[in-house]
Amino acid sequence: MSLFGDNQLTPWQQEPFEQIAKQYAQEQLPHSILMLGEEGVGRDDFAVFVAQWMLCGASEKQVGACGQCKSCQLFKAGSHPDYHYLDVEEGKTQISVAQVRELIEHMQESSHQAGWKVANITNVHALNASSFNALLKTLEEPQPNTLLILQAEQLQGVPATIKSRAQLRKVGVTDSAMTRQWLEQRHDFISREMETGIQLFPTAPYKVESFVEEGEAFKSGEFIYDYADIVQGKQTPMDIAERWQSELENCVFWCQLMFHDVLYIQQGAGEDDVQLKAQFGATAPIADAISPKGVMLLLTKIIELQRLIKLKSPANLMASWQSFLIYSSQIAIKYKNIAS
Ligand SMILES: [Zn+2]
Repeated sequence: MSLFGDNQLTPWQQEPFEQIAKQYAQEQLPHSILMLGEEGVGRDDFAVFVAQWMLCGASEKQVGACGQCKSCQLFKAGSHPDYHYLDVEEGKTQISVAQVRELIEHMQESSHQAGWKVANITNVHALNASSFNALLKTLEEPQPNTLLILQAEQLQGVPATIKSRAQLRKVGVTDSAMTRQWLEQRHDFISREMETGIQLFPTAPYKVESFVEEGEAFKSGEFIYDYADIVQGKQTPMDIAERWQSELENCVFWCQLMFHDVLYIQQGAGEDDVQLKAQFGATAPIADAISPKGVMLLLTKIIELQRLIKLKSPANLMASWQSFLIYSSQIAIKYKNIAS
């Protein structure tokens, strides 16, 4: 067991934790916390950390749960009766009324371990109007010794009632130096892929890690070279569409990054200036084959694709993706014809 119990807090999680711990010690903890943090900062891990710590039965609270007591064991087994984790169910996009009602019922029962009851809602934005309404009463008339953790990526779109009832706690990385330092501590060095990742996600350290570890850095490179083949007429759009079908959502994101570099190259940037340095061999010919106006047109199509991804509309998405790739090959040909 480490000094900090079961888990380690990241540097950017320490301050919000200290605030919560202080309020707990002074018996001034609010009934609900709005936990704000962008994707890639370990917001949910932190929420779970706080929940386990709240429920831990150790006689003296440390930084983090003890990991040994009955409560901690139940928590780790995922069967703590006083903890309720509410996430979007698989295959769905929203948290349902039924899920919220079940949570409220549990919150109204008395604590099984004679302590606190904690609920953790992973995404406030996933509550629809009726599930939010179901939650209102709990928010406005909370039971004693209950803590409701409401997570959100951004403040925008969070219902006013939540903003006024819940206390705001931000979990976030302020600059890329913090991300770099944390990665260096975990990996002993910063690889070239990590360097790219830091440029892409300067304030989302976990995103940098998965970008490198899940091979995304490598795959994004492969895709960009394939895309360069399309605009140069070396491969057909339909072949590429098929090859990358299972990575479609990632491809859309990579395209966005790629076009930023392409526009940058068109303004005279060299290999050392671009974000995706390892892909310069692909982005340079793309910058050459498509006019800046054409790139802007393609970027608007990328934005439309991102909208379809958010709407979770797979059929439309696939069709739009194919038409985007076909358009990419045509726009390059058109431009070449005009140029020659
Ligand atoms: Zn414990």
